[in-house]
Amino acid sequence: MTDPTGSRRLEYLEAMGIQAWSLRAPPAAKVDAAGPAPITPQEAERLPADQPGEAVPVAEISQRPDVSRLDWDELQAQVAGCTLCELHSSRTQTVFGVGNRAADWLVIGEAPGKDEDQQGEPFVGRAGQLLNAMLQAIGLKRGQVYIANILKCRPPNNRDPKPEEVVCCEPYLLRQIALINPGIILAVGRISAQNLLQTDTPIGKLRGKVHRFRDTGIPLVATYHPAYLLRSPLEKRKAWVDLQLAMTTLQEESS
Ligand code: URA
Repeated sequence: MTDPTGSRRLEYLEAMGIQAWSLRAPPAAKVDAAGPAPITPQEAERLPADQPGEAVPVAEISQRPDVSRLDWDELQAQVAGCTLCELHSSRTQTVFGVGNRAADWLVIGEAPGKDEDQQGEPFVGRAGQLLNAMLQAIGLKRGQVYIANILKCRPPNNRDPKPEEVVCCEPYLLRQIALINPGIILAVGRISAQNLLQTDTPIGKLRGKVHRFRDTGIPLVATYHPAYLLRSPLEKRKAWVDLQLAMTTLQEESS
């Protein structure tokens, strides 16, 4: 891993939109002019309880295949043919995950959006470009990390994942986590953090600390979703703090 110090780090931070040492106009004006209206922290952190999902049909849970012994190719094939939830009927293709299968860093987002559904790769749209810049800011190239999502299929109109969709998709992600055995998990966004940590706590309270991923002991740091950061650029400083926390946690735990 390269050490982003001095002018290179400044470049990376600027790519993230963090203007720690320069006096340019704040990025908010630029982003807001081109993009949708900013969302409030309350909107960004709204709990699933605000949008109650349907009850999880027990039959769907019991139909989940045992993928716990599959290798990468078998797992990818299983995902590509998955019809466990209704999302299979509207997807262009599944979005399995991408990157270094022996990575120290596992980044987990929410679900594919339109671009990802079309290209079959997570985080390739605008949010993905910011994610790449965030990774660069801590000296990581996109190809060094593994990137996956809570869901492998795009929810129509980018709506929140339904609980039963998360339940159906979870074994695939759990198998990916087991195969990678990362040194750190970076959960980006409320949906990712709440599902991985099995809590309703708002993202603003989950970020900024080190959690453990269930019984694996793998450290997990939660941060804001890049799509939220595009709308709320002032929060990028907190994301930067989270990234540094994740980096020092990985360094400490692997030394
Ligand atoms: N947002 C996500 O959470 N995941 C993607 O793959 C793209 C956008």
